[in-house]
Amino acid sequence: MTADITTDVLVIGTGPAGSATAALLARYGVEVLVVNRYRWLANTPRAHITNQRTMEVLRDLGPEVEAEAMLHATHQELMGNNVFCESLAGEELGRMQSWGTSPESKARHLRASPCEMNDLPQTFMEPILFKTACASGAQSRMSTEYLSHVQDADGVTTTCRDRLTGKDVVIRSKYLVGADGGNSLVAEHLGLPFEGKMGVGGSMNILFRADLSRYVAHRPSVLYWVMQPGADVGGIGMGLVRMVRPWNEWLIVWGYDINQPAPTVDAAMATQVARQLVGVPDLEIELISANTWTVNNCFATHMQKGRAFIMGDAAHRHPPSNGLGSNTSIQDAFNLAWKLAAVIKGHATLKLLDSYSAERAPIARQIVTRANQSIAEFGPIFEALGMDGGVDHEKIQRNMAARCDATPAAEAQRAALRKAIEFKKYEFDCHGVEMNQRYASSAVVSDGQTPPAPNADMELYYQATTYPGARLPHAWVYDRHGGRHSTLDLTGHGQFTLLTGIGGEAWIAAAEAATKTLGLPIRCVKIGPRCDYEDHVGDWAQAREIGDAGCILVRPDHHVAWRAAGPSASSEADLTRVLKQILGH
Ligand SMILES: Cc1cc2nc3c(=O)[nH]c(=O)nc-3n(C[C@H](O)[C@H](O)[C@H](O)COP(=O)(O)OP(=O)(O)OC[C@H]3O[C@@H](n4cnc5c(N)ncnc54)[C@H](O)[C@@H]3O)c2cc1C
Repeated sequence: MTADITTDVLVIGTGPAGSATAALLARYGVEVLVVNRYRWLANTPRAHITNQRTMEVLRDLGPEVEAEAMLHATHQELMGNNVFCESLAGEELGRMQSWGTSPESKARHLRASPCEMNDLPQTFMEPILFKTACASGAQSRMSTEYLSHVQDADGVTTTCRDRLTGKDVVIRSKYLVGADGGNSLVAEHLGLPFEGKMGVGGSMNILFRADLSRYVAHRPSVLYWVMQPGADVGGIGMGLVRMVRPWNEWLIVWGYDINQPAPTVDAAMATQVARQLVGVPDLEIELISANTWTVNNCFATHMQKGRAFIMGDAAHRHPPSNGLGSNTSIQDAFNLAWKLAAVIKGHATLKLLDSYSAERAPIARQIVTRANQSIAEFGPIFEALGMDGGVDHEKIQRNMAARCDATPAAEAQRAALRKAIEFKKYEFDCHGVEMNQRYASSAVVSDGQTPPAPNADMELYYQATTYPGARLPHAWVYDRHGGRHSTLDLTGHGQFTLLTGIGGEAWIAAAEAATKTLGLPIRCVKIGPRCDYEDHVGDWAQAREIGDAGCILVRPDHHVAWRAAGPSASSEADLTRVLKQILGH
């Protein structure tokens, strides 16, 4: 088959995964073509919670990319009053300070990252990533639908359909990335192994405009959970009124029984559901759109076949709980893009690419399991309110009202409700799941040390460590003009970095020698008094877990590739051996 188009990497899909991959590859100087079967990007604001790790990827793409995201985002201080109520206008049942807004959690967030968690609807995130990709040199083709592909020893030949002309387009690439979402045809054609089930719950989205300030502005939040009889049917376990833009654009998520046909959500039904959840019988809404979707519990146990890869929802399919979908998709891209660039530029062999699935498939399993578990963990709230089992509205109302009595049973009920709400921090303040991703693969080399003992709860709390495979800890360091930089700013941008301190000159010489032998550029940064950067506050000294004359080799995705506690008599041989293993030589 003769190719109409030739490129290094073909990416199917312009969602968060595909657009991020195209942007990163283009920034790394790799030829990339990204296609989408539709004429434009996301038309509904599905993803919104944007965690610190994702913002670090945007920051790596450029300060202007992070700044543009923050310009459009609802900032953290407006995110945190996670309200449980009978309706927005009705009685509030409880509240949880979430998304890093309680004083304790806020401190942990500030310590963990230079970036702020925020709420950025997908309708803003996708254009930012896509624009960055195109402005950086990526080619794009909309209205172009992936149909099939075949691989051979040297590359992939993909057939797409140009939906404007109806004609087939043949694209020849060295690599293919399937970022084509939860119904991924690429994953299906690759025959990759999946675990779990699709369609375990039915949900509907109702997107509308209405000024609801009077019900919410005094308790700003992204999510208002509505507990009404019947709310635990299907979907994400309860009714949800989600802020899209404060406080006049909203998305309602409401469940339906997956064993019944999906309902047709017309204007009348949408208005009725909105009135019911907002609790205002004559509420007028401006309906923007409505659709149904299914809750999935399914992940790929392997994400690569030969020269083809899957990422994002194509590999992990789960409910929105914890807000992990788009975040993980963008983080998949950060993992794969530098590896593809290293192989395409001739710095690494194909072996490096095997580490993608080894590193990201365990994350897919973890986040799909966490998101589904978070739905089940609404159960104790329903139980504490006496809402579990049955649709006898009067009985449920009596059970809920009983918590206001002056009896020991009511006191126990109030305590149970507080505890059940507090337990939801595993969904709404789950910093460890967001930040503790660690890798074990051929692209990480052990330094012979044992990993740090896990903290009290690795799901809830981030643990900073330079143990190989972990993300490099963030610490503020200072240049000679007083400018403040995160240690993450000194690394990344498509390059390996060697961090060292006073006495680490031999490591820098070793890195320069390795650059010559392997052709791989390595940035060297010395931190200490009168060095490239100063650690005035001592945060870096506390985080680095090595001596001044040791070194930390950091991959382009900020993960620690290897470290040495101190100087070595064979620094050049040590570093070359490590790099050769990582690069698959
Ligand atoms: C209500 C709701 C709330 C959510 N909230 C959050 C949240 O707060 N935080 C979060 O991180 N995630 C959230 N998510 C999940 C998030 O939306 C997804 O995880 C994310 O969109 C996945 O990105 P992706 O790029 O992998 O796939 P998608 O966004 O689905 O993109 C797939 C792309 O592939 C294209 N495509 C598909 N098939 C073809 C084909 N054959 N040929 C060409 N192109 C094709 C599509 O047009 C699209 O461009 C939420 C989801 C929902 C439903």
